[in-house]
Amino acid sequence: MAASAFSSLSLSAEFLSNLKSLDYLDMTPIQAKSLPAVLDGKDVQAQAKTGSGKTAAFGIGLLHNLDNQSYRVQALVLCPTRELADQVSKELRRLARPIPNTKILTLCGGIPIRPQKASLEHQPHIVVGTPGRILKHLQTEALHLDNVKTLVLDEADRMLDMGFHDDIMRIIDATPKQRQTLLFSATFPDDIKAISGAIQTDPIEIQVESLHDNSKIKQVFYQVEHNARAATLVALLQHYRPESSVVFCNRKLQCQELADDLWRQGIHVLALHGDLEQKERDQVLVQFANKSSSVLIATDVAARGLDIKDLAAVINFELSPDPEIHIHRIGRTGRAGNEGLALSLFASTETRKVDAIADYQGTPVRIEKISSLNPPDNFRLIPAMTTLCIYAGRKNKIRAGDILGALTANTDLPGKRIGKIDLFDKIAYVAVEHPIAKQALSILSDGKIKGRKYRVRRLR
Ligand code: ADP
Ligand code: MG
Repeated sequence: MAASAFSSLSLSAEFLSNLKSLDYLDMTPIQAKSLPAVLDGKDVQAQAKTGSGKTAAFGIGLLHNLDNQSYRVQALVLCPTRELADQVSKELRRLARPIPNTKILTLCGGIPIRPQKASLEHQPHIVVGTPGRILKHLQTEALHLDNVKTLVLDEADRMLDMGFHDDIMRIIDATPKQRQTLLFSATFPDDIKAISGAIQTDPIEIQVESLHDNSKIKQVFYQVEHNARAATLVALLQHYRPESSVVFCNRKLQCQELADDLWRQGIHVLALHGDLEQKERDQVLVQFANKSSSVLIATDVAARGLDIKDLAAVINFELSPDPEIHIHRIGRTGRAGNEGLALSLFASTETRKVDAIADYQGTPVRIEKISSLNPPDNFRLIPAMTTLCIYAGRKNKIRAGDILGALTANTDLPGKRIGKIDLFDKIAYVAVEHPIAKQALSILSDGKIKGRKYRVRRLR
């Protein structure tokens, strides 16, 4: 039996067969290294890159400890952002399928507090959420943590970067001293070591090689002249034509300026940064994921938690001053065996950053001349899809099938030209192929969905 087989762990047959049904055939390296200690009840401090399967590494552990007959919060997972918390909850629900009636509640800011309070009247087994909102529920005594057996800090480095240190410590004060504490992080700066020392007991330290397999990511650097950054970015997009790309900037102001600049040049882009309201953020993520835009300009903090599996390229419009962050950025392409592309722009004043990256990854970087790019003359970047926004959602009892039906029943639009449908409480987004956007908009605006008229708008 391979050491990386899930069956080498002491898990029930139902649990193992559920993992099989999820297509989890073998443990990922971080799972193979951490799960034996996690299942043994040890405190664990684990470092591994994004996409390495950390959620299941702690998820399988906390589910193993769960008593589903006891309606008390037994596991608490703290995450930096709502998107990450949603992803963790989703993964935990899939892993928990063999345990009947497991109640998992997500508690995050940016959404009304009252319905959360109502859900807490019956304490769930597992709470996943962001520190600020969880602390609020503790302070109003809606949430009780005195039966927590497993405490998880997911993406601990990012939570500290976001200023959650004090909130986290206050939350931990409300948990029992006797507990298992699991700390996961992509990086291990000093403040993480400090917090681990304060909240963990004899933690087992686990690290999985954080450098990426370079053969899967083609990484090229381009030196740019002052003021030619945006033009070079356009040339890169035209030359490589990535089907989807994230363009990183170091600051949110730069993000917005670059987005405005590209729009003026007729390039469809989206910007994701910390100044967006939750609703706008949801909208940007929906549009990028449903292929209504192929370029997403983002800061590191804002991009954290983006779960897009087939990113064709990562472009560093600005180099990060931290080589570790650079490696983390480019690790978003070339996943799951796909060929990845990482392109970076740097000015002559930034050669030290380039050297630091080469040092960190242990291989020299490849620098190419901008003159080697040959963008086609009449190239325009038009996304494949366009998003229509419908002002009705789950609360209106609308399902994806109702929207698809409204678009295709009694019309000549074939279903295959309709893309992803995303439903929120009061709003829904449907992606349609770009050439039929106008027709789809008038079908939805003039017609009805489930017998009612709703306002519909086309997003740019
Ligand atoms: P991380 O938290 O380290 O960034 P995730 O836990 O989000 O990574 O996992 C990344 C992806 O890998 C998810 O889509 C998850 O479902 C998948 N995954 C996790 N463990 C396995 C496994 N053992 N086999 C196959 N896929 C896995
Ligand atoms: Mg994760």
